[in-house]
Amino acid sequence: MVSFDAMDTHSDVIVLGAGVIGLSLAFELAQQNLRVSVFDIGLAFSGASSAAGGMLVPWTEVHEPNALQQLCTDSFAMYPSYVSRLQRYGNVTLRLSGVLEIAHTAERMAEFERRATALQDAGIDAHMLHMNDLADEEPLVAHDALGGLLTRAGGCVANRELGHALHAACAANDVALYEHVASPEIVHDDERVIGVRIGGALHAGTTVINAMGAWANNAIGVPTSCAIPVSPVRGQLISLRTCDETNLRRVTWSQGIYAVPRGDGNIDIGATSENVGFDVRNTKEGTLGLLDAARRAFPTLHESSCFRAWAGLRPATPDGWPILGKTPLDGYLLATGHYRHGILLAPITASLMAKAVVTNDYSELTPFALERQSLHHASEVVC
Ligand SMILES: Cc1cc2nc3c(=O)[nH]c(=O)nc-3n(C[C@H](O)[C@H](O)[C@H](O)COP(=O)(O)OP(=O)(O)OC[C@H]3O[C@@H](n4cnc5c(N)ncnc54)[C@H](O)[C@@H]3O)c2cc1C
Repeated sequence: MVSFDAMDTHSDVIVLGAGVIGLSLAFELAQQNLRVSVFDIGLAFSGASSAAGGMLVPWTEVHEPNALQQLCTDSFAMYPSYVSRLQRYGNVTLRLSGVLEIAHTAERMAEFERRATALQDAGIDAHMLHMNDLADEEPLVAHDALGGLLTRAGGCVANRELGHALHAACAANDVALYEHVASPEIVHDDERVIGVRIGGALHAGTTVINAMGAWANNAIGVPTSCAIPVSPVRGQLISLRTCDETNLRRVTWSQGIYAVPRGDGNIDIGATSENVGFDVRNTKEGTLGLLDAARRAFPTLHESSCFRAWAGLRPATPDGWPILGKTPLDGYLLATGHYRHGILLAPITASLMAKAVVTNDYSELTPFALERQSLHHASEVVC
C-alpha cells in the first residue's frame, strides 16, 4: 500500500475499487504503459471477489446463445494464458476438470438433454450421464439422482490466490494502490472528468473507471445521468472440511447448491441469493440451509464439519449483464455489474476495457453499454 504523502499528482487512469475487476483492469492498463492509480475504501480483494466460489462455468448459468454467453465463453478461453501471465507474480491454482449438474426430476433431465444437444452443436464437449454412469463419474453424488449433464470445459480458479497474484502484478507494474481511503468524490467540469478528491486532496486523472462492484451506484459527485442500476445481492457460502479420499472430482451442482472442491480437502458450498441491501452477515437459516442441501446432495459428506461460513455481495443489474464502457460524462467509465460471473469475466473485461481506453473505440462493448434498453426496462433484479 502506498502512503498518501507519496501520491502522484496525475494518473492516466484512476480505478475506483480493487476487486477482481479493478485490479485486473489496472494490471492490463499498466501493461499498456499507462500510469494507473487504484483507490479502495477498504482492503483490496475483500469484497465479492474474495467471497466467490471461483467457478469458471460459462455454460451452466447462461443458457441462451447471446452476447453475454459469448463474453463468458471468450473469457473462459483466456483463463489458461491469463493464469500463466499471473504465475510469475504468485501461485494461482486453475482446475479445469469440468462441471457436473445433477437432475432429480424428469423435467430437469429433459432440460439437460436440450442443453447437451445445443452445447454439442456449438462444438462443446458436453454429454448426458444416466443413473448408472453417475456413480462412476462422481461417487459422492446421492443415489436418488436420475442423471446429469457433464460439461468437460469448465472448472474453478482459486480466487483468493488470484487476488494475491493480481495485487503483486499491479505492484510490479507500478500501479499505485491506495487502500482504506475516504470515499472518493469524482471531480469534473462542464465537459469531462478531472480526477477524484479524497479527504480534501485532488488526484488528477484523464480517465476514471468505476469498478466498485455492488457499491457502484454509490459514486459521489457524478451527474444524475451517470446513475447506474447496480444493486447488491447477498450470497452466503460454507466450507466443509473432508478427508482427501472423500473429495469431489469437479464442480458439481445438485439440490439447488453448487459444490466447489478446493483441492486441499475443503469443499465450498454455495450459495444463497438474497436482496438484503449491503448486509454481509451470515444467517443461521442460510448456513443450515446450505449444510442440509449439501448433505442431501452428497450424503457421504455427513461427517464433514462446517468449518467456515461467509458472505459477499454480488453486483447485480436488472438484466443480469455487466455494464462496461462510457457514461454521459466524458472520461468517466464503468466496469461493474458482473453479478454472478465476475471471476469468470475478469480477463475479458480487463482486455476489452483496456483496449477501448487506449484506442477510444468502445464498439466491442456496445451490448454492455449503460444506455442499452434491457438495463432500464427490466423491472427488478432476479435473485
Ligand atoms: C457468494 C458469491 C459467489 C460467487 N461465485 C462466483 C463464481 O463462482 N464465479 C464467478 O465468476 N463469479 C462469482 N461471483 C461473482 C463475483 O464474485 C463478482 O461478480 C465479482 O467478484 C465482482 O468483482 P468486483 O471487482 O466488481 O467487485 P468486488 O470484488 O466487490 O470489489 C469492489 C471493491 O470496490 C470497493 N469500493 C466500494 N465502494 C467504493 C468507493 N466508494 N470507492 C472506492 N472503492 C470502493 C470495495 O471495497 C471493493 O473492494 C460470486 C459472488 C458471490 C457474492
